[in-house]
Amino acid sequence: MDHNLSRREYERAKKFIPGGVNSPVRAFNSVRSQPLFISHGKGSEVFDIDGNRYLDFVGSWGPLILGHAFPDVLEAIKTATEKGTSFGAPTVTETDMARIICEMVPSVEKVRMVNSGTEATMSALRLARGYTGKEKVIKFSGCYHGHVDSFLIQAGSGALTHSVPDSLGVTKGTAKDTLLAEFNNLDSVIKLFGENKNNIAAVILEPVAGNMGVVPPVEGFLEGVRAITEENRALLIFDEVITGFRIGRGGAQEFFGVQPDLTTLGKIIGGGLPVGAFGGKAEIMDCLAPLGGVYQAGTLSGNPVSMAAGYAMLQYLYNHPDIYEKLDEKGRKLEEGFKENLKNTGIDGVVNRIGSMMTLFFTKSKQIRSFKDALLSDTEMYARYFRLALESGLYIAPSQFESMFVSIAHTETEIEEAILKNYQALQKLGK
Ligand SMILES: *Cc1c(COP(=O)(O)O)cnc(C)c1O
Repeated sequence: MDHNLSRREYERAKKFIPGGVNSPVRAFNSVRSQPLFISHGKGSEVFDIDGNRYLDFVGSWGPLILGHAFPDVLEAIKTATEKGTSFGAPTVTETDMARIICEMVPSVEKVRMVNSGTEATMSALRLARGYTGKEKVIKFSGCYHGHVDSFLIQAGSGALTHSVPDSLGVTKGTAKDTLLAEFNNLDSVIKLFGENKNNIAAVILEPVAGNMGVVPPVEGFLEGVRAITEENRALLIFDEVITGFRIGRGGAQEFFGVQPDLTTLGKIIGGGLPVGAFGGKAEIMDCLAPLGGVYQAGTLSGNPVSMAAGYAMLQYLYNHPDIYEKLDEKGRKLEEGFKENLKNTGIDGVVNRIGSMMTLFFTKSKQIRSFKDALLSDTEMYARYFRLALESGLYIAPSQFESMFVSIAHTETEIEEAILKNYQALQKLGK
């Protein structure tokens, strides 16, 4: 595979953009490689500017559950664009969008649109503090909630592989209000509530961790956190930026039957355009300006083109509830294939999966249930695996601590192709 044009473009980009990229993981640093510049995508495939074809399991990091350039979404974008791209005034699609979100996500009675997942979690935190009158927030090590100061404390995703769990520029004052618990460990949450009586505004978590690699909640964990937050009158925030509309139509809260007070959404909700949202009980949401005293605003929030794209996506998901069984089936095939490949090549690894989210951890451990378990993975091995996979045309996340995303565009043949490519890469790794 030839990457000459991507290499040249990367040099040009580095002159004008810090690190040549607009989001750090895209630089492929942790796998010691160089970014590919994408020319276009169609369905389950992406093509780089050198003309190479890849079977894509990144899916823009989660949003593209229907694959690239999905016709309904493109059509909606075209129609909306022709009417003008922004007004800074209410449009009908915003209400349509809000209504379908409230209908699909069990705990959401009212919702406000923003422009990214980061903005959603940032605003949900302010709202939780405003509503409860308390200041501290509990987050879990290895969970990622966007690049909000308060959440860049032992965060997952890019912050993890770049070894800057505490980013420069986050003040001690901010950091002291963020308390760290361990994912899948209820005692760690109980302990923090014991030490910070009556001053915890909220507990935020990814109900299925996706930014330390995929780590599903152990039985009773989400229910336990729900009970503890209720007892202590703290809000429970589910960050469903990845899991919303992916684990099921109503996200992880529907799948596990646990209702948070607030939910943050992003990724899928924008249909591939920049959108985020946060919602929850009406009583809490009504504390937002203009009704209440918690200020939150956005010039481009509820943008008509983004809303059209997101609404087309959600309508499709709403009208095709069977896609979640199909995605699970595709995911199950992929999981079984990868596990079989590990066995047949003698490579040590664990495959964690829930529905269409999956991570292959290179580890001697028998299971990955916590952030500590995840950190024991052999990232050097992952880096070599990544480069082999990429050279064979398998586009996966350039980090051990991310998820593979299956879309409905992945055909059975393509799932088999992915399994074969995984086998070939593992075989080379073993040599
Ligand atoms: C991606 C992500 C975010 C941040 O969303 P952005 O749109 O990148 O700001 C927040 N929370 C979770 C769980 C995410 O995966």
